[in-house]
Amino acid sequence: PLRENDAVIENQITVCVRKRPLNEKEISRRELDVVSVPTKNQLVVHEPKQKVDLTKYLENQHFRFDYVFDESCTNDLVYKFTARPLVKTIFEGGMATCFAYGQTGSGKTHTMGGEFRGKQQNFKNGIYGLVAQDVFRYLTHPKYAKMNYSVSASFFEIYGKLVFDLLAKKQRLRVLEDGKQQVQVVGLTEKVVNKVDHVFELIQKGSLERTSGQTSANSNSSRSHAVFQIILRRSGSRQIEGKFSLIDLAGNERGADNSKSNRQTRIEGADINKSLLALKECIRALGRKGAHLPFRGSKLTQVLRDSFIGEKSRTCMIALISPGNYSVDHSLNTLRYADRVK
Ligand code: ADP
Ligand code: MG
Repeated sequence: PLRENDAVIENQITVCVRKRPLNEKEISRRELDVVSVPTKNQLVVHEPKQKVDLTKYLENQHFRFDYVFDESCTNDLVYKFTARPLVKTIFEGGMATCFAYGQTGSGKTHTMGGEFRGKQQNFKNGIYGLVAQDVFRYLTHPKYAKMNYSVSASFFEIYGKLVFDLLAKKQRLRVLEDGKQQVQVVGLTEKVVNKVDHVFELIQKGSLERTSGQTSANSNSSRSHAVFQIILRRSGSRQIEGKFSLIDLAGNERGADNSKSNRQTRIEGADINKSLLALKECIRALGRKGAHLPFRGSKLTQVLRDSFIGEKSRTCMIALISPGNYSVDHSLNTLRYADRVK
């Protein structure tokens, strides 16, 4: 498995997979862990029945990614190899983006927002909070301290074609594109932050807003994309110097079998699929000169447009998978998607 001291890869696009441990529900259903992580960049999905007898693997599916995090990995370790190498990008005039992709319950919010203890979430140890801490650390560095940077944060949610401000009681926002192809979320709250504790408060506020009024696992937060952004400007200037976008994507489980679902759920599923497909194409285009950028294919890619252009932009995809045999179809879908992004 991956270790603290392993080398960090500095690519424009990084694609990795994180496997969470079996949870209590899965254990009580006697689910088997069908995912193994033989090395720091390999992952094997075993045929469920065959896991019992290790000598009988016939159709194991092998995958290779930049990194594979097994169930023993902490958020700190995941952060070190995924978003952390991208923090310097925003201090060097580039855009950084980090996505969490996977089915509902696979660990996206745990990874991005922080570990849960019961209903409580430790926002300091999610990727949002860890990026914020490093941004403030960079600001004290002599090289950057003299630049007079101003840091601000925004947090919003994309649900189908609608955008809601998570720092303003889910106020609905419009997305506008001007003649120069600049995309703007009109009226989006952008809070200037002077210390990292202030960022933690905003993460908490937005996260609670996102999940408020929800009861079932099928609730709204699994059907929307959450976008947390840290923006860097020179004090007194409107011009953005760098921006780090951190996205907790909608669950990718819809669409495979939607014959039984109602009309609204089918529409939602179709919207989510469309945005995830557009996202894949936009990430793939990132490393290729002159590649077609289908950013208008969805609200998500439209609002992230400026992050997909520019040679200095970097992105990281963290695909999350549930290890249980009941989830194997969803896990394979997730792994194939991630495989095509890299
Ligand atoms: P998602 O956002 O993808 O729907 P969550 O992040 O809410 O999934 O995770 C679902 C459940 O699994 C939560 O209770 C969370 O605490 C737990 N979980 C997720 N990832 C891990 C992990 N790596 N280690 C331990 N528990 C995890
Ligand atoms: Mg979630």
